[in-house]
Amino acid sequence: MTKEKISPGMQQYLDIKAQHPDAFLLFRMGDFYELFYDDAVEAAQILELTLTSRNKNAEHPIPMAGVPYHAAQQYIDTLVELGHKVAIAEQIEDPKTAVGVVKRAVVQIITPGTVVDSTKSDAESNFLVAIDQEGPSFALAYMDLATGQFFVTTLADFAAVCGEIRNLRARELVVGFNLSDTQQQVLSSQMNLLLSQEKEVVEDVHLIDTSLSAVEKTVAGKLLSYVHRTQLRELSHLQKIQRYEIKDYLQMDYATKASLDLLENGRTGKKHGSLYWLMDETKTAMGMRLLRSWIDRPLVDKERIVERQEIVQVFLDSFFERSDVSESLKGVYDIERLASRVSFGKTLPKDLLQLAQTLGNVPTIKGILEAIGHPVLDNLIAQLDSIPELHALISAAIDPDAQGTITEGNIIKAGFDQQLDQYRLVMREGTGWIAEIEAKERAHSGINNLKIDYNKKDGYYFHVTNSNLSQVPNHFFRKATLKNSERYGTEELAKIEGQMLEARDKSSNLEYEIFMRIRQEVEKYIGRLQSLAKALATVDVLQSFAVVAELQHLVRPSFTDNHTIAVEKGRHAVVEKVMGAQSYIPNSIYLDSQTNMQLITGPNMSGKSTYMRQLAIIVVMAQMGSYVPAETATLPLFDAIFTRIGAADDLVSGQSTFMVEMMEANKAVHLASKNSLILFDELGRGTATYDGMALAQAIIEHIHDQIGAKTLFATHYHELTALETELPHLENVHVSTLEQNGQVTFLHKIAPGPADKSYGIHVAKIAGLPSALLARADKILKKLEQQAAQISTDTVLTEPVVSDQLNLFDTTHPILERLAQLDLNQLTPVEALVFLSDLQKEL
Ligand code: ATP
Repeated sequence: MTKEKISPGMQQYLDIKAQHPDAFLLFRMGDFYELFYDDAVEAAQILELTLTSRNKNAEHPIPMAGVPYHAAQQYIDTLVELGHKVAIAEQIEDPKTAVGVVKRAVVQIITPGTVVDSTKSDAESNFLVAIDQEGPSFALAYMDLATGQFFVTTLADFAAVCGEIRNLRARELVVGFNLSDTQQQVLSSQMNLLLSQEKEVVEDVHLIDTSLSAVEKTVAGKLLSYVHRTQLRELSHLQKIQRYEIKDYLQMDYATKASLDLLENGRTGKKHGSLYWLMDETKTAMGMRLLRSWIDRPLVDKERIVERQEIVQVFLDSFFERSDVSESLKGVYDIERLASRVSFGKTLPKDLLQLAQTLGNVPTIKGILEAIGHPVLDNLIAQLDSIPELHALISAAIDPDAQGTITEGNIIKAGFDQQLDQYRLVMREGTGWIAEIEAKERAHSGINNLKIDYNKKDGYYFHVTNSNLSQVPNHFFRKATLKNSERYGTEELAKIEGQMLEARDKSSNLEYEIFMRIRQEVEKYIGRLQSLAKALATVDVLQSFAVVAELQHLVRPSFTDNHTIAVEKGRHAVVEKVMGAQSYIPNSIYLDSQTNMQLITGPNMSGKSTYMRQLAIIVVMAQMGSYVPAETATLPLFDAIFTRIGAADDLVSGQSTFMVEMMEANKAVHLASKNSLILFDELGRGTATYDGMALAQAIIEHIHDQIGAKTLFATHYHELTALETELPHLENVHVSTLEQNGQVTFLHKIAPGPADKSYGIHVAKIAGLPSALLARADKILKKLEQQAAQISTDTVLTEPVVSDQLNLFDTTHPILERLAQLDLNQLTPVEALVFLSDLQKEL
């Protein structure tokens, strides 16, 4: 379409759209936000809007779809939730006074990583992440716009960058360097991130520490630039950047956290059945978020852990005071997010009332902690700043019954502002004066049902029905004629009406002005409110630790430097809570300084995984500073947990179960140290028996000889139990069973030594497979066992493994032939991919 044919309004649209090609542009026209062209077509489909066109009869009608402005939020939320950006273009001048096309401009761009007022749960943080590269090292910065928290770190390689992005559950990534094709593919396709390039660097010495490294400063500056570019509003709530190192926390990758069901149950994706579910006795949204971040990042520094433990101990020793604290926390609102809303200029009267109520609770909480009078609480007490002047201001100014609007009055309390009181007096008295006039004129005219009414169009008027028209006094003048009645005014009534309308008008304007002044005043306290929010959240999480310790019968763990694990009667508290304490069988876990590995054998369903996870969960809880489910627990401080648990295909990124299994094993083999904890559940199961067993053995040997990490290794390969004689730091344990009259009972009890046999067929029986089928399986098993007995007994090599692996493929397979014939020099990368995909399909 040529420019000449485009209306000035559409030209304005196209100009704005050209600046935001990657966003849905919502273009304000009257009471609607309109979308045009491709945006309209796509949005109509996603949001189920009616697709129309702007100039139906033209040669090229412009596709158009619209949403009413008052209902726009839900549509915006949907688009952003699906990973899109939405740019909002508003009319920025009054259409009544505008000459020509009303000026419009984009006032905000809402993106998945910057959304703050969606309906998303209060418990979750939404992080916007930025990455940059300089030489071999990467820097990563992230921000939670809803609270203003801002962090930065340096990472060794791209894999670590991806790991950290996954950990943060980010949905949007700001990229400061040119990505390679592979990096692009990983981030956008596999990790499903919305990517935006950012080259500009904002320098802000208040937020970005000058002591950071160059690349850290750049990445932080690019993140800030992106945030300014999209938010286009005041962001006085952003907090000073905090530098962290991954190694300051117990390292666990995303898969590990998922398989341990830390924040959500891996199977259901729900809170129920997760460690967070078990540990959440918090009373505030801030507490919930902090608890989640503590679960996500347990500590490695003993001093910090013990500091938390000490407070939990004090709370446990002071039951009544702690209950009072919990009770008071119920009146604490999410002032961390309230502070941000103040900065965004989105505060409503009810927000300020919640703020005041929260501040009003702080002296109570502080008082209770002071009454406990233990020095470990001193730090927290000092941080509980109740900001009395802010509390006094809001309490004096805001009417406790104020509603959610700020333009209709009734927000400022009587007595706060003289002028406002004056206007209100007129409004109040005016009603009395009108009643007096009504009584006077009724008596004077003799019209018994004469009354004064009000409507917007006619103002105040005397309502006279047709039957009484003859009695209307002379000083009445007609205002309107209706079917059965007439409306009259008098000079006196008009005068009072004038005064009242003026007062009403001016008072709501004045209330708005006063409210804005208070809002500005509150803005000065954002920093203090954020510190208070942190202190309240900490109190909340620690009281929650105490409550959970009591409810779940947890004990305080101690930490040792001598590489020893001693957990007496440990429990997997989440499984225990789900199944009920009576049914759960506790298991002790001992690994002395010389024992690094336990090889766990036992039937399916007997509790091997539960035993392993139990230890990991105890470690996580202990390093969070929480008490743990056991009778006693002594643990080393771990630097990382690596797991290979469960058989999850990562279909999205096109990796098979076995590939994922090997990649996770590889991570542990490469990254684990002597101070790490490794859990391997049936490693090698995803491939043929001999392959799997060979790999399992080699991995065990490697960890045993080269790493020395504490390792629990559950396996169905009974042959591996022979390793105990060769590997001095490995011991066999098994889950015991009771076999009586052909019936097998799982005792869920860990005992020394290897298991004698597998009970797969027994489990299949429990699962209800037909008995004929089971009898057949039994027969096959017997035969296989006879054959196995004929083969040499030492399938497990106790010498270093140098022999060839069994062939994965039949070498005459047609796919192998096609692979062999392929001329790599003739292929483009895309053709290679297509070829691979064909092979896969065929397979
Ligand atoms: P598989 O080899 O099939 O993976 P597994 O030996 O790893 O099985 P788990 O998954 O740990 O077995 O446990 C199976 C079930 O046994 C659990 O879901 C739980 O109901 C029960 N169970 C496990 N440990 C205990 C325990 N200590 N006390 C009571 N019940 C338990």
